[in-house]
Amino acid sequence: MIKFHFELPELGYQFGDLAPMMSQETLSYHYGKHFRNYVDNLNQLVDGSKYEGLSLTELVRKAPEGPVADNAGQVLNHSLFFEQLMPAPNAKRPTGEFLFLIEQSFGSFESMIEQLNRAAASFFGSGWTFLAMDDAGELKILSLSNGDNPLRYNLVPLLAIDVWEHAYYLDYQNRRKDYLQNLWLLINWHVVSGRIV
Ligand code: MN
Repeated sequence: MIKFHFELPELGYQFGDLAPMMSQETLSYHYGKHFRNYVDNLNQLVDGSKYEGLSLTELVRKAPEGPVADNAGQVLNHSLFFEQLMPAPNAKRPTGEFLFLIEQSFGSFESMIEQLNRAAASFFGSGWTFLAMDDAGELKILSLSNGDNPLRYNLVPLLAIDVWEHAYYLDYQNRRKDYLQNLWLLINWHVVSGRIV
């Protein structure tokens, strides 16, 4: 019997590769300790429970509010977060159909970034700001507390911004806006647009 079935996804970069926007120390704590802890917690909660055998997205969608939903959400959110980062991204801006969708929903790419910054900077407490897509193909910005995820509201998450203090405190202390400003330098828009289903 496989006891621990959820695993930390491999990173496409080394801990030091995202500096100075995100330091090696931040990556080693955020990925190596916080994210790992959510994965370990989820495995312990699911193992031998009625949730055993469900995929991560099924757990996020179906688990009622509580520890399973919290930890599954954090595992999914952190997977999205770390996967979309890249040192010196080769896709610094969205292109093609994705850019068209952004312009339809927000007017321009710059306007979308401004709105994401505003939402993430003003969100109170621990949580996430997302760019997500609804059934009609419209893009939405929403902020959710703790480990909540757009999938629970029938929205597909495209971009996940971690605004928990553990994501930036070592590098930026209380300056969340500076963290957000530098985070854009690491976003690989090719990965983000690849999440459109
Ligand atoms: Mn985090």
